[in-house]
Amino acid sequence: MENIIILGTGCAGLTAAIYAARAGLRPLVLEGNLPGGQLTTTTEVENYPGYPEGIDGYTLTDNMRRQAARFGARYVSATASRLSVTPGSGVKQLHTAGADGACYETHALVIATGTTPRLLGIPGEREHFGGNGVSTCATCDGAFYEGMDVVVVGGGDSACEEALFLTRFASRVHLVHRRDTLRASEIMARRVRGHAGIATHWNHLPVEVRGDATGKVRALAAKNRTTGDVVEIPCKGLFVAIGHEPNTHAFEGVLDRDANGYLVPTGSGGVGTRVGGVFVAGNCADPVYQQAIAAAGMGCRAAIEAERWLRENA
Ligand code: NAP
Repeated sequence: MENIIILGTGCAGLTAAIYAARAGLRPLVLEGNLPGGQLTTTTEVENYPGYPEGIDGYTLTDNMRRQAARFGARYVSATASRLSVTPGSGVKQLHTAGADGACYETHALVIATGTTPRLLGIPGEREHFGGNGVSTCATCDGAFYEGMDVVVVGGGDSACEEALFLTRFASRVHLVHRRDTLRASEIMARRVRGHAGIATHWNHLPVEVRGDATGKVRALAAKNRTTGDVVEIPCKGLFVAIGHEPNTHAFEGVLDRDANGYLVPTGSGGVGTRVGGVFVAGNCADPVYQQAIAAAGMGCRAAIEAERWLRENA
């Protein structure tokens, strides 16, 4: 039986781990599918306070991980697949995915499971996903496209960040967006608009990823929403950056989720749930801000609330 389990090792989970560990609770942290979270797939983080020159995402989360470990946080490589709560005692069981299917029991729980990049759902995308030309992570796969044309789909901060990063390798980056204005923050949009290596294709909706006879990506077919014409944009790689979906299926039926699957925080600190002792933090419970520092702040609040709850209830 654990005092407190933390699900997730992004900014929210690791900040919760630092606070819970410093409170002497020896938190057990389940690392999840992507240890370090979304930031490990980012290059330069420019807006996390305290790093005037920026810091790469991997180093930032690795620092947090070591900081929590220093105060007694323990890590286990596991992903929660289902949550159940024993009526009466309020003990929480976390059933995990994987060969051993271990089940962990705890008094308090902080859920910081983050989000997963969304895919377009068009023909050819799944077939080429993961090493065959379609990716959601320029940091991971960008270097494979040295001297080649690539396409980035999306108009938000992620798409701009991916496009700018890919200019380091690609001969040309085509940014394909379904509208004629970027959703991204002004600083990112300005960098993209002013970059000679990025060609923008406004009002184009992707319809198919087309491959060649060897199974590699050859082009993205996209429909011009003004004329209705379908054009082919030749490319060797396609990077999809159209937003994210919250990793919350494991909590279906036990916790409140909104129409898009985000956990709905309630109660004091804005991190509680309808189950006593279960707290939420970070992008899985924040459809609005989705920022590393906002996730860290929520992780801090969740750990403090969990510590108070344990003192009064366990
Ligand atoms: P986002 O802001 O939701 O943008 C998603 C983009 O994809 C939008 O431009 C959207 O078009 C487009 N899109 C969605 N579904 C599509 C579809 N089926 N087909 C074609 N296009 C589609 O997502 P994000 O860029 O991942 O950003 C998420 C959050 O993280 C934001 O709050 C952002 O500020 C933050 N973030 C911040 C940074 C940073 O601070 N450096 C970096 C990355 C992300 P519409 O515009 O037409 O809706």
